[in-house]
Amino acid sequence: MSQQTDHLADKARRQFLTKATGVAAATVVAPGVFLHSVGNAAPREEPVNDSVRWGMLIDTSKCADGCNDCVAACDKENGLDQLIKPEGASEEQWDMQRPRWIRSVKLKNNLTGRVTTLPMMCQHCEHPPCVDVCPTGASFRRADGIVMVDRHTCIGCRYCMMACPYNARSFIHENVQLKPTATPRGKGCVESCNLCVHRLDNGLNTTACQEACDKGAIVFGDLRDPESAVSQALAKYPAVQIRADLKLNTGVRYTDV
Ligand code: SF4
Ligand code: SF4
Repeated sequence: MSQQTDHLADKARRQFLTKATGVAAATVVAPGVFLHSVGNAAPREEPVNDSVRWGMLIDTSKCADGCNDCVAACDKENGLDQLIKPEGASEEQWDMQRPRWIRSVKLKNNLTGRVTTLPMMCQHCEHPPCVDVCPTGASFRRADGIVMVDRHTCIGCRYCMMACPYNARSFIHENVQLKPTATPRGKGCVESCNLCVHRLDNGLNTTACQEACDKGAIVFGDLRDPESAVSQALAKYPAVQIRADLKLNTGVRYTDV
């Protein structure tokens, strides 16, 4: 068993024991918002269904300029930190072509001039253009709202990358030597944030980026459950979708933009 699988199994065991012993844990996830239940991922033997829609609320007021914790955590979780710069490529070339599932970006409000730093990843659109344009069906949306790429049917045409308004997808240009079991990837395929689907499918209702953010800027959970932390936070704080004008109904929302 890999270290990562051990880590996941350990966490799942702890979560199970907490439930089994009836410990009523209340975790503060945002000011005045408490997480009383651990969510409701479908047990692994059951197919996912649309009773759940996974999503996130990101409070940009907590994102410190220069902070890269969520990016580093995502890279580690998904093995992006193990990728090696191709021989002969300059640092600049590598920086442009290396895959990124989450990026820290600066957004400027053209009306007020205000600049906000925020993490940008796949927005898990309800109406995803990346899925619409994929000629093989490799780009798909699960019933629980997660948008993913099936690397076995991806032909690397990159139509989805052109269609995505958030620049959320990356193409793998080189052979991949080292990769975690949970995140298969290979040369010639497109990939992007999958909301840490390997965690969710193993009963862990957290994402690596959320866990890594000690400022509590990321609240993750089931958007369909009114009791979930993310729904409670959404009810409490005014939130926006980036490029709401496109009407993609994103699963990732932001406050204080
Ligand atoms: S953000 Fe881009 S990659 Fe993600 S679902 Fe929307 S269109 Fe597809
Ligand atoms: S949810 Fe998981 S895959 Fe998506 S950005 Fe966060 S750490 Fe990366």
